[in-house]
Amino acid sequence: MDLVIKAGKVFDPRWESFKELNIGIKHGRIAALTEKDLSGNTVIDANGLIVSPGFIDIHSHSDKNFKVQENNFETSEAGLRMGVTTLVGGNCGVSPLNFKEYKDYIDANGAPNNYLGFMGHNTLRSAAGRTDWYSPANKQEIEKIKEMLKENMEEGAIGLSLGLEYTPGADIEEVLEICEALKDFHSPLISAHYRYDADRGLEAVEEMIDISRLSGIPMQISHLNSGICFGNAEESIKVIHNAREEGINVMADCYPYNAFSTYIGSAVFDPGFLERWEAKYEDLLIAEGEYAGQYCTEELFYKLRKEDPGIYLIAFVMREDETITVMKESFTMIATDGLVRNGQGHPRASGTFPRVLGRYSREQKALTLKEALYKMTVMPARRLNLRDRGIIEEGAFADITIFDYNTEIDLADFTNSSLAPEGIKYVIVNGKLAVFDGRIVNNRLGRIL
Ligand SMILES: [Zn+2]
Repeated sequence: MDLVIKAGKVFDPRWESFKELNIGIKHGRIAALTEKDLSGNTVIDANGLIVSPGFIDIHSHSDKNFKVQENNFETSEAGLRMGVTTLVGGNCGVSPLNFKEYKDYIDANGAPNNYLGFMGHNTLRSAAGRTDWYSPANKQEIEKIKEMLKENMEEGAIGLSLGLEYTPGADIEEVLEICEALKDFHSPLISAHYRYDADRGLEAVEEMIDISRLSGIPMQISHLNSGICFGNAEESIKVIHNAREEGINVMADCYPYNAFSTYIGSAVFDPGFLERWEAKYEDLLIAEGEYAGQYCTEELFYKLRKEDPGIYLIAFVMREDETITVMKESFTMIATDGLVRNGQGHPRASGTFPRVLGRYSREQKALTLKEALYKMTVMPARRLNLRDRGIIEEGAFADITIFDYNTEIDLADFTNSSLAPEGIKYVIVNGKLAVFDGRIVNNRLGRIL
């Protein structure tokens, strides 16, 4: 064997509980899963540790650093350090404009994790000439968007992501017309950052369900917690359950924090936002740049919104009890929505998976270990039609995360947002060691899926 994982508590969350087994890896795949002794070129002693399928982050913004800063993979590496072996970029309407270019880059250089990507509606819309967020795209622009979407789908993009809150001018007719371009492709997926949150969260959830109902394409609601956890999550959850019972393929992802993050110039902060969230300027933390770490005042907010609209804010406006409720729902998977730049950003990019395992599973017992792992591995793998990943069985790709459930915890917080977690010991990507004893040893093992 190329690599052997010895004596670990192997836990594929399709099983009832862990089994003490040895794993042999050869040519990138799991070649043996057995109680028998195995020998290999490299042997990892996993005694006392959980050996899980590698985590799959179905909602990331890792590709936003592409060509923006020297380290294209800063977000991806934060993911790798917390056990993410596959991630999905291009969410919330924003993606690289040219999927092939990003794909070629990863083909040539490798990446920290395996990668799949959506094409962003907002990105395509601007490229088609509709740079004003508040007005609808015209017929020619929509044709251009469809053409670009098709070209990128042919190169391997997995579907379309919407960022409706950021493009108030894009109505459901525009979206449905664009979705037509997906219909020639095998099992496409739509992800959507809702149009409204808080008191209009339910309305926004209904629109996303309608998009799926009318287009016939599965809908992945993005970071559901930040849309509905303002005191009335229950009714939106009920509407999603009803739609699913009706046969509409709608699911969601969420991150385990009650604060969200976006750029200060976005339409999210158009007049009325404080009233909507029943919040104040002091609930907004500046995440980047000269004022990083400071809470806003009214004056500072408007100064930055005008002078530096790309700066990220963190808004402490959601409810934790409802975030837990969302996380536990049968249609929800765990994802980061993460972006790290120069060590700065929302801590979810560096803490999401360990936080669910440590804080919400081990400490608060809100989810069992089996439930938590299911939402990080098998569930997103199925959603993404990845048959040989997100599971542990002979023949599957060897994407594996090994951690200590007794000490597992996130360390990234709102002042030190990119601290690596505790408890993630080894991460194996495509059969090779990417993280050894908590440290990245190879960040080029991932590939385009
Ligand atoms: Zn979003």
